[in-house]
Amino acid sequence: MDNNHDKLQRFVFENTPVRGNLINLTSTFQLALNKQKLPKSLKKSLGELMAASALLAATLKMHGALVLQIQSKGALKLLVVECTSDLDSSMKIRATAKWSGEIEDHQTMFELIEHGQFIITLDPKDGGQAYQGIVPLEGDSISAILENYMLRSEQIDTKIWLCCDGESAAGMLIQKLPETMHSSLDVQDADVWNRVNHLASTVTDDELLHLSAETLLTRLFNEEDVRLFEATDTQFFCSCTRDSVANMLRMLGDEELTDIIAEHGKIEVNCDFCNAHYAFDQVDATQLLMTETPILSNAKLH
Ligand SMILES: [Zn+2]
Repeated sequence: MDNNHDKLQRFVFENTPVRGNLINLTSTFQLALNKQKLPKSLKKSLGELMAASALLAATLKMHGALVLQIQSKGALKLLVVECTSDLDSSMKIRATAKWSGEIEDHQTMFELIEHGQFIITLDPKDGGQAYQGIVPLEGDSISAILENYMLRSEQIDTKIWLCCDGESAAGMLIQKLPETMHSSLDVQDADVWNRVNHLASTVTDDELLHLSAETLLTRLFNEEDVRLFEATDTQFFCSCTRDSVANMLRMLGDEELTDIIAEHGKIEVNCDFCNAHYAFDQVDATQLLMTETPILSNAKLH
């Protein structure tokens, strides 16, 4: 039987304004995070945030990058996930975390947060307008934070279920499109949102992690008319390059670069997302200093 590994699946409830997505990240999750020495609880949270990024990116139907960040001034400093989608091809995801001190296995992400903010950034690659929204963290789970954000900022009713068992991450999203977007659809079934919501709420972590989309949708929404679309593959991919690292270094400024070279004889950078190592010797660095500084959008992620 088909497994659900590393697939994003869209579905709709026929003739209603309700639609949804399912996501499973297995090798995507493992390749993205296993090289990073993450505390157990942050790895789990990052897995959930990765699943959430794919679910949200799928609702946006855009070419480009969706970046979700949780920033805080507590022991947790940053969780960041970037999901890049091109229509008709796979979704590419990378993720990393920053924290300070020792984090115990039993500590949840929320115990490590002080003055937390949730930041969502859309960076379309097709010439559209970039967008950034920053809101306080409201809710005691990543799914609650995202549901609150979608309702407050986008006025879209959204329900999200997320889980991560340390080996893979999975999730489901259902969403009711606003009236204006479905005026041509049958509105007689006024109760559909509540009904679907109620049925979806019975989903378990085990089902999300292990069942194929067909089996899960049949089990949850047996009586409903659900149409499932072709799956989109997901994969871990880091977009860092020697050029993007060089651009990031140029943004530090001549003085800082000259100081580093004077002290160490070279500049070394490890990518937080993929652990790729970039070294610039004195000759490279001199060249960096002589080159104009283009501001690249992905430089800010390093
Ligand atoms: Zn990288």
